[in-house]
Amino acid sequence: MGADTKLDQWETARVSETTLRRLRARAVTVVRVLDTQTGHVVWNGEHNAYYWAEGDGACDCNRERLFGFDSSAGVCLGCKRFVIIECDAPGYTLAEFNEGY
Ligand SMILES: [Zn+2]
Repeated sequence: MGADTKLDQWETARVSETTLRRLRARAVTVVRVLDTQTGHVVWNGEHNAYYWAEGDGACDCNRERLFGFDSSAGVCLGCKRFVIIECDAPGYTLAEFNEGY
């Protein structure tokens, strides 16, 4: 089996939608976050889609840090104040980034 054959097999391999979604979720994405109390908006490009939708960035505890706050003291702040208003993550919707809000 030559290298060309392997390449052909790779290119024609079928990747499931679930796998695609997981791969995309690992890629770093750019989000725009709104502080609904002050109207301030910040951009951030340091995390992947999973972080914002389902990881530590899914609630105010870590979103508030983008605005210079650090009020979380062992208790979750919940999903009340910092909403993602723009993102470039294929496979994810804004609703998924703000599911608890
Ligand atoms: Zn939290």
